[in-house]
Amino acid sequence: MERNNASETTVTPGQAQLVEEVLARFGKAAAIVDPDMIAPWIRDWRGRYWGAAPAILAPENTAEVEAIVIRAGELGVPLVPQGGNTSMVGGATPPADGSALILSLRRMKRIRELSLEDNKVVAEAGVILDDLHAAADAAGRRFPLSLGARGSATVGGLVSTNAGGTQVLRFGTMRRLVAGIEAVLPNGQVYHGLSALKKDNRGYDFNQLLIGGEGTLGVVTAATLELVPAVTDRCVAWVGMSSPEEALRLLRVFEAETTQVESFEIVPEDSLSLVLKHIPGTRNPLSRLHPWNVLIEACATSPIAESPRTVMERVLAAGFDDGLFDDAAIATSEAQANDFWRIRESLSEAEKARGPATQHDISVAINLMPKFMVEAAAELAARFPGTEASAFGHLGDGNVHFHVRAPVGADPAKWYAEQAPLVTAYVHDLVVASGGSISAEHGIGQMKREELERLGPPARLSMLSAIKRAMDPAQLFNPGKLVPDWTYNDQANS
Ligand SMILES: Cc1cc2nc3c(=O)[nH]c(=O)nc-3n(C[C@H](O)[C@H](O)[C@H](O)COP(=O)(O)OP(=O)(O)OC[C@H]3O[C@@H](n4cnc5c(N)ncnc54)[C@H](O)[C@@H]3O)c2cc1C
Repeated sequence: MERNNASETTVTPGQAQLVEEVLARFGKAAAIVDPDMIAPWIRDWRGRYWGAAPAILAPENTAEVEAIVIRAGELGVPLVPQGGNTSMVGGATPPADGSALILSLRRMKRIRELSLEDNKVVAEAGVILDDLHAAADAAGRRFPLSLGARGSATVGGLVSTNAGGTQVLRFGTMRRLVAGIEAVLPNGQVYHGLSALKKDNRGYDFNQLLIGGEGTLGVVTAATLELVPAVTDRCVAWVGMSSPEEALRLLRVFEAETTQVESFEIVPEDSLSLVLKHIPGTRNPLSRLHPWNVLIEACATSPIAESPRTVMERVLAAGFDDGLFDDAAIATSEAQANDFWRIRESLSEAEKARGPATQHDISVAINLMPKFMVEAAAELAARFPGTEASAFGHLGDGNVHFHVRAPVGADPAKWYAEQAPLVTAYVHDLVVASGGSISAEHGIGQMKREELERLGPPARLSMLSAIKRAMDPAQLFNPGKLVPDWTYNDQANS
């Protein structure tokens, strides 16, 4: 054992050997050992988790990933696959004891192929979402998944977290957009699954196993992704109403009338007020505040399609006649449409400026969501006096970000240590009682692992455990994430 003083990390002989071999075989760029260069990659985006790693391995192609995984297996060195490190659940942060090396896919950033005939793109794991969008745009197509971290999030991370974002309503999550995967498995074999077969009934769907696998079952090296026609025109509206029930009824009216709606995001009055207070340059699109608001985006993808503005006006007129909302503003320019979106995209920042809060990325059946949002918020306020609960986000997907703010004046450190875990457990209990999920789109990572273990239905947990044991018996792929510890304790005892 030697001590790496700068990063306070103990380097095991296996790690030292692996790094030495990688440097010798693949060159200086393939292994980063400078602690200053490692530092940004050992903590998570939200700054909640700090890990340690004596090196980042950065292969340039699939053959290098394969060689690294084989040698890591022989030397018993755990690996933490990492893309843009934007995980919201500490999923890409290495363990704090420095026992693992980071395996960064960021150097693998080639678009291998883009086919207009098939409407598919084959992108390597390190391609950044913004760059994927640009490549699709340049070809007159669109990759229809977007999220706030698009300037950093990579294809490998998006696949491995089954990312969602703001267009799930029309195009689904990554599960629907991934047509094929290439990955290196824990045993060192390369899974060649890039060919996008519409029909393939050779048993289990391994692509789907790797999607949302959080790097625990395989290192994704490339993916074949679906493209859709580019947007030819769009219309964005901001609608003020009295209740989430009305919002859902309005969504149903839109769904009955058009397939153009891509986003349907709900924003409560208190969250909107926080944006207006804390985010410079924002203003309420309506003349007064309403208890609830929705941002609706409709897009046309063909010049001969009905204009999204006409669709928006027609459906909103029908909704207004049915008494589903009080007021609405339709953006009259791209700049105004962007202003409406800016409010939605600033919600997390505004909530952060308000003070300590605990966030929950949850889903319940869409028809239950309006009731859940109102009743759960009231129950929280009664159970934890002084707290304020606020739910906003992807109503159309049955997924909201349920934030519970600490009482005004609460000591942040004390509240986070003592109250936040109780609040979170309470929220999750309510979600499970409603048949929902404690992770709608961010994954489990290290943040929700204990909660998954506490609440996961036994059949789900035993399948999770059985698959992990079968594919990664030495637990070398992303240890400490997603899969509860008992998987291995149980194995040791059996
Ligand atoms: C501002 C912001 C907004 C966000 N908005 C959304 C949103 O609207 N919807 C949503 O779903 N998510 C959202 N996210 C979180 C989202 O999950 C991530 O942004 C993204 O999917 C992760 O990509 P990444 O390359 O950063 O992966 P990382 O953070 O590096 O890794 C995420 C997980 O994937 C694994 N992983 C990464 N690369 C690979 C690979 N090549 N092979 C195997 N495993 C791998 C890691 O081990 C880790 O478990 C947001 C995050 C931020 C910071």
